[in-house]
Amino acid sequence: MTNTFTKEIIHDFVSLFFPNYCRACHGSLVKGEEVICSACMLELPRTNYHEDPENPLFKKLTGRIRINHASAFFHFRKGNKVQELLHTLKYKNQPEIGVMLGRAYGSLINEAFPNLYDFIIPVPLHKSRKRKRGYNQSAEFAKGLSQELAIPYSEEVLERVIATTTQTKKSKLNRWENVNEVFNVNNPTPIRDRNILMVDDVVTTGATLEACGHTLLKNGSNSVGIACIAATQ
Ligand SMILES: [Zn+2]
Repeated sequence: MTNTFTKEIIHDFVSLFFPNYCRACHGSLVKGEEVICSACMLELPRTNYHEDPENPLFKKLTGRIRINHASAFFHFRKGNKVQELLHTLKYKNQPEIGVMLGRAYGSLINEAFPNLYDFIIPVPLHKSRKRKRGYNQSAEFAKGLSQELAIPYSEEVLERVIATTTQTKKSKLNRWENVNEVFNVNNPTPIRDRNILMVDDVVTTGATLEACGHTLLKNGSNSVGIACIAATQ
């Protein structure tokens, strides 16, 4: 009783200095809500791809790479709430958004295909970019998924060896001969014979995930699948 009371006082005190607000609508969070309010979570446009093995994202990628499943939590459209939220996650020093969404999506994935994966690999940032930003937003999503799926994730296994800029991204990644130059596996031991869930924040063409997947398979992973926060249509 006393303990709970003390905790509530501390909670209220901390809230004075670190207001507990929804990162999507900036409204106040009520007790039990964290990072994003329940109303926003209901309003964000879900794809429900996890319920449909033949979903548009899977169709887009299959044939280019051998994947067992591909899904994304939300639809990404220019100007929609998802785009705003991902921008905040990426550039406003709020990694907790990624963790929260990872936990929420993890519970859906766990229901749809339990035990399909045994290791999670986020699409890596080049180390210079990660140093600048302080964290990799996809790794934060991976962290939340890892907690919910109860399987490990690692930021150390796969590294991005070429720092692609927005302008060069397309031409570099779309050329098959250069794909193997972008990512590198440091240590293949943790991923050997593992069924890997690859995660990214937004998937557009899928070229990045395709390159990551080929690198993982080439280094001995048994299978790869994909879970992203959002997908463009
Ligand atoms: Zn909200």
